[in-house]
Amino acid sequence: MNPVIALVGRPNVGKSTLFNRLTRTRDALVADLPGLTRDRKYGEGRVGGIPYLLIDTGGISGDEQGIDALMAGQSLLAIQEADAVLFLVDARAGMTAADEMIAQHLRQQGKQAWVLVNKTDGLDADTYSAEFYALGLGEPVAIAAAHGRGVTQMIQNVLLDLRPEAMAEVLAQAQAESLYTSKRKAQALAEQAQPEMDAAADPFKRELNLDEEQIRISVVGRPNVGKSTLINRILGEERVVVFDQPGTTRDAIEIPYERDERKYLLVDTAGIRRRKYVSEVAEKFSIIKTLQAVRDSHVSVMVIDARVGLVEQDLHLLDFILESGRALVIAVNKWDGMTPEARQELKQDIERRLGFVEYADIHFISALHGTNVGHLYASIDQAFRSAFSRWSTNRLTRLLEDVVQEHQPPLVKGRRIKLRYAHQGGLNPPLIVVHGNQTQVLADSYKRYLMNTFRKILKIKGTPLRFEFRSGD
Ligand code: GDP
Ligand code: GDP
Repeated sequence: MNPVIALVGRPNVGKSTLFNRLTRTRDALVADLPGLTRDRKYGEGRVGGIPYLLIDTGGISGDEQGIDALMAGQSLLAIQEADAVLFLVDARAGMTAADEMIAQHLRQQGKQAWVLVNKTDGLDADTYSAEFYALGLGEPVAIAAAHGRGVTQMIQNVLLDLRPEAMAEVLAQAQAESLYTSKRKAQALAEQAQPEMDAAADPFKRELNLDEEQIRISVVGRPNVGKSTLINRILGEERVVVFDQPGTTRDAIEIPYERDERKYLLVDTAGIRRRKYVSEVAEKFSIIKTLQAVRDSHVSVMVIDARVGLVEQDLHLLDFILESGRALVIAVNKWDGMTPEARQELKQDIERRLGFVEYADIHFISALHGTNVGHLYASIDQAFRSAFSRWSTNRLTRLLEDVVQEHQPPLVKGRRIKLRYAHQGGLNPPLIVVHGNQTQVLADSYKRYLMNTFRKILKIKGTPLRFEFRSGD
């Protein structure tokens, strides 16, 4: 699983600034649906080819009613679950009581923490960092998140610590590069966000037989929406007991099974099934484990509770699944026993608010009675196939020509933007790289037209489709 890094600190020390810097996507990369506003609390960062999950925990102000109140908060849950913590302090404000309280908590947790002294731009970094030694968390690292100073170096060191082997390779490559090119280029290489070639996208490297490949499925959603009921329904009771031996790990469990001669692997987060068979009170909802399971699967089945309707947290999760690029199928559960009016109302609400994931199939099911559960598979299989489709450069380039022919890009300052050829740059989600000139001024509306037409003609369903535009001038 990818390492999880949590950002903590008082309000206003620069957490969001650092978060944005670490998770920013390349300028040329546009998501499937540009213009979507998001609450960016969870994001993916990357150094070289190594992805990590970054969580902005929100501010800990120190005004909370004692450590107990704090403990209950998601911030501290995030700290508990993180592999490393980036603890931001403000060089200009100096050390505060809240900083000391946070440090004390981190020390108690025995967490690996990095003290980042932010806003050192225009200051003598050493002088201003020194006082933060007193936090007892090792040598403070001076950065200026707003200007990028020290940020690349810092995140490389953090990952070098968390993933020594993988990172060493990235750095060695960057270093080798620097022997014959400029230092800037080497740094760019280390920072480069590569297409998603990790875990799930790995099959890109080899010939993939989609009929034989095992489909990795995660079932996600808020507590009580019916995830365990659905999983038990899918697997059949006998199987669950077999796999649910005491002592099964705390982290994700993977359950292989077959259906209609097709191989599947259910990626289960610790909380989902265990609870049913071990006498354990309701598990805390862990958004981090959920997100890891999503990242670790090819297709996510997102379960929504029809009786409760769409709530904020559902949208939040869907938003992250969209962002993660994983294929998606939506299951609206507990459809049994709903009045026709209530059904109608929910359908309208879904139509209105789930437009941003309109690529996903929606099924109305009853996990309890098994109604429509079988239908999920057609969508899962289709989403998987779409996510791992491959097209030749020839095919994509010809399609691009047709699409451009049909509808030319607008003139910019009297010059026609040229789109010359296209090739595939990744899988799960599929990435299409379009080369041309002046693509940096290509209007969003035109990009959307391209994406929609490609999606339609290539018959892509159930997965985001990403485009990247590269310019030759
Ligand atoms: P958060 O509340 O911890 O998320 O803090 P923000 O990221 O919103 O930053 C708070 C303020 O500090 C904003 O006005 C930022 O522009 C400013 N800031 C963030 N990083 C730096 C920096 O490296 N140098 C300076 N001078 N200001 C910064
Ligand atoms: P989880 O927390 O998401 O794993 O949810 P559970 O599978 O534990 O289900 C929560 C509650 O919803 C349980 O009482 C289930 O019996 C009930 N439930 C699950 N699926 C359905 C369904 O399709 N219809 C109805 N009426 N109840 C369901």
